[in-house]
Amino acid sequence: MNLKTIIPFALAPIIFNSASQAQQKTTSPNLIIVLADDLGNADVGFNGCKDIPTPNIDRIAQNGVRFTSGYVSYCVCGPSRAGLLTGRYQDRFGFSRNPLFAPNDPQMGLPLSEETLADLLKQANYKSLAIGKWHMGAHETLHPLKRGFDDFYGFLSGGHQYFPELLTLNDPFEAKSQFDGYKTKLLRNYERVDEKEYLTDAFSREAVSYIEKNKDNPFFIYLAYNAPHAPLQATEKYLSRFPQMKEGKRKTYAAMVSAVDDGVGLVLAKLEELNLAENTIIVFLSDNGGPENSNGSDNGVLRGQKGDVFEGGIRVPFAMQWPAKIKAGQTFDKPIISLDIFATIIAQTKTPVRTKHEIDGVNLIPFLTRENTNAPHDFLFWRKFDAKDYAVRNGDEKMILKGGSETQLFDLEKDISEQNNLSSAKAERVSQLSADLKKWESKVIDPIFMGLGDDDKYNEANPARFKKQTKK
Ligand code: CA
Repeated sequence: MNLKTIIPFALAPIIFNSASQAQQKTTSPNLIIVLADDLGNADVGFNGCKDIPTPNIDRIAQNGVRFTSGYVSYCVCGPSRAGLLTGRYQDRFGFSRNPLFAPNDPQMGLPLSEETLADLLKQANYKSLAIGKWHMGAHETLHPLKRGFDDFYGFLSGGHQYFPELLTLNDPFEAKSQFDGYKTKLLRNYERVDEKEYLTDAFSREAVSYIEKNKDNPFFIYLAYNAPHAPLQATEKYLSRFPQMKEGKRKTYAAMVSAVDDGVGLVLAKLEELNLAENTIIVFLSDNGGPENSNGSDNGVLRGQKGDVFEGGIRVPFAMQWPAKIKAGQTFDKPIISLDIFATIIAQTKTPVRTKHEIDGVNLIPFLTRENTNAPHDFLFWRKFDAKDYAVRNGDEKMILKGGSETQLFDLEKDISEQNNLSSAKAERVSQLSADLKKWESKVIDPIFMGLGDDDKYNEANPARFKKQTKK
């Protein structure tokens, strides 16, 4: 499959009520971020997927723009989400590992020094809802409602069981191990609830209901599905859509992606029904590349997978619509990154907002309207601290520093699969890009908490990890 293949879009015109359209132009745009978890680059129709139909997700690309070089700032869940929610390279504040589920630990998550997108949008009178996977800390001080969100429906851990009957823990302190975090009952704000639906369907339902409740004010919905992250679990409703697939990972994965696609369909339908589609920015992306070996995902021609600084780990399915400003049916090939979502929305609010920190994303709108024909970014950087793996992208070139010593250089325009290492032939470029990387590294700090790989070490240092501590 060639990522550059232009997919012809049959565009159905969307009819809007003109009065409400006029009214919407005077108000701040709504924002919905649909974040899939561990979705492969080639597993959506707009990137050429053949065996899993995603007609609703594809509509976002058809109604707006599909990014062929859309990146995230890290190759696994936690750090990538920390970047997305702050608009900053997460390495700037030491969120460079996947956090452990540690309900007693106020350091294990997004540091309180950071502002989230919800914090910023509050300044512009948005109502904000976080749905699904939080993963920014399980301590009470790191709860979504303490991080700018008005509402929350989901779980605090890095993954979850999908069948509600498997959610048996009433309290995180009933957990005995890291992965018990997957079994906690869902939270509605601070209250444990008994969900009855398949998780993906429950999250879609909550998004739709929030749109309905907030139709008269600007809103931000962070719709962070945990699908299609492991454990691979799907209901018959979705499995039965793939009778031609043999039983196994790919089939269950396909069913899980199909459930997300249905959810996107419900969200789009509700926006259209309420005449809100015109002035709502919807972004769809995955938090990292597909872990092909574990969930049956497919990153297509890209090398590597989740956990890698090769393209398969960091280049994700990425599309955005905003009919009021972005022309439909576009393909944008220049590199952009998840950090840009933050910068884009805060540039659009009718009440200006002010950030406390320097942000790393850019407002994409002038690039999408062709008001600015330059590249949004001269450089993009990645760091996997423990592995000492780094990557820097500049124009078509990408340099990888592997294990802190071995350099590789690829021309992504000619070699999207990163097969032809040019580092010996272009030693000068390698040394320039190494210097650029060094300069960037001077702005980042070491990780501030232990990660998933340190579970045993963490337990040893924190024997009371799952014991409820009484307030002092
Ligand atoms: Ca993920």
